[in-house]
Amino acid sequence: MTTEDRPLYDVIIIGAGVIGPCLAKNLARQGRKVLIAEREWSRPNRIVGELMQPSGLKALKQLGMIKAINNIDAIEVDGYYIEFDGQEVLIDYPSKNVESALDNSPVPDAIKKGDEDKIGSDSTISAKRWEESPNVKGAGFTHGDFLMNLRAQALAEPNVTKLDGNVTGLVKDDQQRVCGITVADQGVFKGRLIINCDGIYSKFRKEIGEDYVPTVGSYFVGMELTDADLPAPHHGHVLLGKHAPVLMYQIDPHHSRVLCAYRSKTLPRRADVLKYLHNDVLPQLPKKLQPSFEAALNKDGQDIYKAMPNQYLTARLNNNPGFICIGDSLNMRHPLTGGGMTVGLNDAVLFLKMIADVKNEDLDNEEIILEKMIDFHNERKSLDVIINTLSIALYTLFAADSRYLTILQRGVFAYFLRGGSCVEEPIGLLSGLIPSIWTLFFNFFAVAFYACRLNIQARGIIGFPLALFENVGVLITASFVLLPLLLKEILS
Ligand SMILES: Cc1cc2nc3c(=O)[nH]c(=O)nc-3n(C[C@H](O)[C@H](O)[C@H](O)COP(=O)(O)OP(=O)(O)OC[C@H]3O[C@@H](n4cnc5c(N)ncnc54)[C@H](O)[C@@H]3O)c2cc1C
Repeated sequence: MTTEDRPLYDVIIIGAGVIGPCLAKNLARQGRKVLIAEREWSRPNRIVGELMQPSGLKALKQLGMIKAINNIDAIEVDGYYIEFDGQEVLIDYPSKNVESALDNSPVPDAIKKGDEDKIGSDSTISAKRWEESPNVKGAGFTHGDFLMNLRAQALAEPNVTKLDGNVTGLVKDDQQRVCGITVADQGVFKGRLIINCDGIYSKFRKEIGEDYVPTVGSYFVGMELTDADLPAPHHGHVLLGKHAPVLMYQIDPHHSRVLCAYRSKTLPRRADVLKYLHNDVLPQLPKKLQPSFEAALNKDGQDIYKAMPNQYLTARLNNNPGFICIGDSLNMRHPLTGGGMTVGLNDAVLFLKMIADVKNEDLDNEEIILEKMIDFHNERKSLDVIINTLSIALYTLFAADSRYLTILQRGVFAYFLRGGSCVEEPIGLLSGLIPSIWTLFFNFFAVAFYACRLNIQARGIIGFPLALFENVGVLITASFVLLPLLLKEILS
């Protein structure tokens, strides 16, 4: 078929990662003719997107796609386990009442087969257990398997056309409005609206602005542990110490993902990484975890670990005619809190709800779409500001490398040990179920003041003047960590 003979699609989606297929399926169900272009349709083997927060699962239900976590040996996740200097704390995910206070309504036309918003039972997931649990749950799974399920659901829609190819450029009309894509060796495909979901290394986000580039704060080095003896199965593990934070969670009954933060803004050298993992991380891990970690490190061959940059990018208004970014191409945060898919999926829900009443022939109407995008940009902030700010702020505290940050780090952990609202609110923020800027602000400074109090106690009467001096530094540091980030996110 020549370029001229090709149909005009209502929507073209670039990228079939986590977000692309969710948009494709739901837009198709809204009666749109959708083309989804992906350069690699085979199962990816990545270290990203393997722990889904409860709010991400809520969004999958609203999209009618929750069954994508079924039949992939996924692991139910009940909360977090945090270890610091040999002390530990277990934090449960919030009660279901917290979730039911939010908007749980499905995307229009998402649920056509009755139970598509209900989790199913399989060899590892029990729908009954899920139903009877008083608290919400998250899920751990292998990224590639989850993605293949999402893609299968999208491609099962008669209105979705699959395109196997590398998108190399955007096509613009005489008014400089984006109206199509160029695909390597295949030519041009035209659409009324182009949605870009090309992910972390986005080629096309610069369409929103030449200076729209992420910053790299650190790297995550990921390995897969076999039959790891986890201190708290069915929990995300955050292990703190002199090393940068280590994150761990089960991705199937026999395998756990370990992500070790590495303080570097450039791709770390292999020899340096292996030395760091051997000398700084391994000896400080809980004893029962060390054999599986060591076995992964001593694996034969080059493929011991994968490294990924931890990038940060504040969202901008999608005001480019004919072209919209969603997912990591729009917005990124530190993966420490596992919030990327949650933000992207909730954005997909919001976008699909907003666009539901737009007729196909109006999808190329700049005024209508811009109005929707302004609402989208403002409404998505309630969740996005929390998840993004929390991820960077927590990473800064957990990777503490200065005196004041270390005092704050101890304060965070001691704050969690108090229990009650000192854990319920932070875990509500992290799981994406308390989208309240005030709760984030209050808890962050409650931690800072608590850290100051503990510092005074630790210094004793003789050290009181020094503690006072240090506490001024602690409060200034806390303000510098939180406030610029929060303002940047709110004002973006
Ligand atoms: C180390 C790390 C760990 C993470 N862990 C978690 C976690 O545990 N939980 C969580 O919620 N989030 C996590 N994230 C974030 C999460 O992976 C992303 O938020 C999520 O994958 C974003 O989905 P997306 O669809 O925007 O992009 P992606 O999932 O990256 O998909 C982009 C797709 O576009 C395709 N593509 C790109 N360019 C082109 C092109 N030119 N032509 C055709 N196709 C193209 C790619 O092949 C890919 O399939 C992590 C991130 C990192 C870096």
